[in-house]
Amino acid sequence: MGDLLIREGTILSMVAGEEPLRGDIAVRDDRILAVGVAGAVPADFRPSRTVEAGGHLVLPGLINTHSHAAMNLLRGYADDLPLMPWLTERIFPVEARLTGDDVYWGTGLAILEMIASGTTCFADMYFFMDRVAQMVEDAGMRAFLSRGLIGGAPNGAEALAEGLALAEAWQGRGDGRITVMLGPHAPYTCPPAYLERVVAAAQELGLGIHIHLAETAGEGEEIRRLYGRSPVAHLERLGVFDVPALAAHCVHLDAADIGILAEKGVGVAHNPVSNLKLGSGIAPLLALRRAGVAVGLGSDGAASTNTLDLFQEIKLAAWLAKGTSGDPAAFGARQALELATVGGAAVLGRAGELGQVRPGFLADLIVLSTDRPHLTPAHDLYSLAAYAATGGDVETVIIAGRVVYSGGEYHTLDRERILREGRTRAAALVGNG
Ligand SMILES: [Zn+2]
Repeated sequence: MGDLLIREGTILSMVAGEEPLRGDIAVRDDRILAVGVAGAVPADFRPSRTVEAGGHLVLPGLINTHSHAAMNLLRGYADDLPLMPWLTERIFPVEARLTGDDVYWGTGLAILEMIASGTTCFADMYFFMDRVAQMVEDAGMRAFLSRGLIGGAPNGAEALAEGLALAEAWQGRGDGRITVMLGPHAPYTCPPAYLERVVAAAQELGLGIHIHLAETAGEGEEIRRLYGRSPVAHLERLGVFDVPALAAHCVHLDAADIGILAEKGVGVAHNPVSNLKLGSGIAPLLALRRAGVAVGLGSDGAASTNTLDLFQEIKLAAWLAKGTSGDPAAFGARQALELATVGGAAVLGRAGELGQVRPGFLADLIVLSTDRPHLTPAHDLYSLAAYAATGGDVETVIIAGRVVYSGGEYHTLDRERILREGRTRAAALVGNG
């Protein structure tokens, strides 16, 4: 891939204890080689490409720890409904008609949106995941992919076989950008015996698990009625947390649940927009953080959340933490940015190579233009990035050392084709085609 130089950025490295610094970033192949002021970059460094950051903000690429990318096809199709009728009456019937091609192009729509708003890595759960993987590879994106498994459905066993085949075919593909996990959908859609089978397979193959957990109050009531314990305690008992686990939502938790998540090292994907829009509630972010649980941000699918712009999730996570605690100092701008960077990396088990601008780390970087009225002046750069910036301020996106987006142009994807396919396929799916 060669050498890339990002010149004269105002770097928010997100490295603990490090202040913003003005300087260069040298990238060799897919990793950061050096960061800093003049002299930090080795003399023999001869970049084949230079990105002039011109003093604008450079941050680690944002990490979306929970999504259903192909659901971009259903954005705005079924808004303003509670989770269960939304799923069973509106979403599931349309999803039953989806083809692999629909999923490929729908995922393309999501990746166009994610890249242009600064997301460089996402954790996805859906079906036809081989087609999702293909789009990820084509886009040059980084992703953690899992075949969604509804254990209680007639095709539960077949879906698990597909999930395992996905790992066989795609683990480590795209020059290491693709990681495969197993994706049992939720405690209420997967019976205990099925979850135990998934755990056994994950242990055997060394795979992580991505699952929805404690999303609604109703889920908690149902699992307690059926199994006599909370959804979190239920999954712990079944061994789900004995493998690296990523739990999405975790809205309805008690102190014992939080203790289990902390002790077992479960990563939590906090989806503030989706949880509010579906009326599910507000996850106890501060209590999770105080207990030492790794927390990242997730958008959830565009059918529930409407936009994949993680800057929106960053803001809302901060506002909710302040509003629910009654303490505006309880959660600051830098901590909010950490959720989308170092937090996301920790949740995905990659704290040692993702989510920071640091030598040896993967070169997933974004440049945010600050030459905008709403980003002027710059009293506090963390505040600017967390509270004032939007995805629309992203100028340049680098994933694994490759510039995939700059100046409004995509360098790996055919924007017009994807938009066209997205429009016609979405219309056909909901019966307007
Ligand atoms: Zn979800």
